[in-house]
Amino acid sequence: MRVLIIDGYVDEPACLGVPPYMAPYPRYIAGALIEKGVQKEDIIYRTIDRIRTRREPLRFDLYIIIAGMTVPGKYLRASPITLKEINELSHLEGTKIIGGPIRLGFGEEGGSSAKEFSVPGITLAKKDIEAFVYDLMDHKDPASVQHRMRTNSEIGRWAESGTFIITQHPDYPFVLCELETYRGCPRHSHCYFCTEPFYGKPDFREVNDVVREV
Ligand code: SF4
Repeated sequence: MRVLIIDGYVDEPACLGVPPYMAPYPRYIAGALIEKGVQKEDIIYRTIDRIRTRREPLRFDLYIIIAGMTVPGKYLRASPITLKEINELSHLEGTKIIGGPIRLGFGEEGGSSAKEFSVPGITLAKKDIEAFVYDLMDHKDPASVQHRMRTNSEIGRWAESGTFIITQHPDYPFVLCELETYRGCPRHSHCYFCTEPFYGKPDFREVNDVVREV
């Protein structure tokens, strides 16, 4: 199986994944695929900017798109994936999955009102995309996969085994890798602009897992 991870970029209050930054999502997904037996050489990472400019032929069995801008960022040399581009990708042969903060809704830019994402031909991972991809490897049919959150022990493993994908980033070796130590927000009342409360109470990773990932 050949897999293409398309980084459409994410920008969340607690996670930036726009070059030169790389979010944890592609690394976790790559690690989940490795654990399911997909070979490293069959897992390709491309940013949407590279796909947009090079127009290389895309022939993969599985396409995994990461997207979602929830804060109004302005970027110097990268442009997040557009709805038009997602529609174009939906016509590719093969299985298409999309996830990340886009599960909360799609807006052309952060800070704009977001609409529920729905594009025929692409399955939205409604919870954690890395868990969805992991389970998809057993089910094959996206419609039969249960949407669920990943566990701390899962990302403890996937974060480490997925680090190889960093070398495929266009800014490597100067890519800045966002490290997740926990997610969620411990406050009783939350800031109006923030999507972190959607992750619930803080969910801390094991210190040794983070150290191994580094
Ligand atoms: S809601 Fe919580 S995580 Fe979000 S900005 Fe406010 S304090 Fe930080």
